[in-house]
Amino acid sequence: MSTLTGCCFCGEVEFEVTGQPVAMGYCHCESCRHWSAGPVNAFTLWQPQALRVTRGTDSIGTYNKTPISFRKWCKKCGGHLFTSHPTMGLVDVYAAMIPELEFAPGIHVNYQETVLWIHDGLPKMQDMPAEMGGSGVALAE
Ligand SMILES: [Zn+2]
Ligand SMILES: [Zn+2]
Repeated sequence: MSTLTGCCFCGEVEFEVTGQPVAMGYCHCESCRHWSAGPVNAFTLWQPQALRVTRGTDSIGTYNKTPISFRKWCKKCGGHLFTSHPTMGLVDVYAAMIPELEFAPGIHVNYQETVLWIHDGLPKMQDMPAEMGGSGVALAE
């Protein structure tokens, strides 16, 4: 099994992920956009046990606007780290935080909220896939 490492912007917080992500893709929701200050969030979802913080645990801040997403960042530099999704039983380690990961997106979610239309031929879910509690409705590019 492969282990990849990542760290926050200043290096105070270090972590590793082991194995393979459950899913990879892009989230276009307003919450991701507002939180990240970017137009879209490239996500990689992992089983929580695949993620291990190896340094700087005490420097991790958490904020949850909803019970669905607990967003984590480094309290020193403000750099974003990952988001726990307890109701899904998964954790989103932002793709940009794992530079060595071969990012292979398979889906776009919450595309009804997009501000950045991407024509890459991948499925565009209106909200979330049915197996993740969404409508399962796909939108045209
Ligand atoms: Zn930091
Ligand atoms: Zn989102």
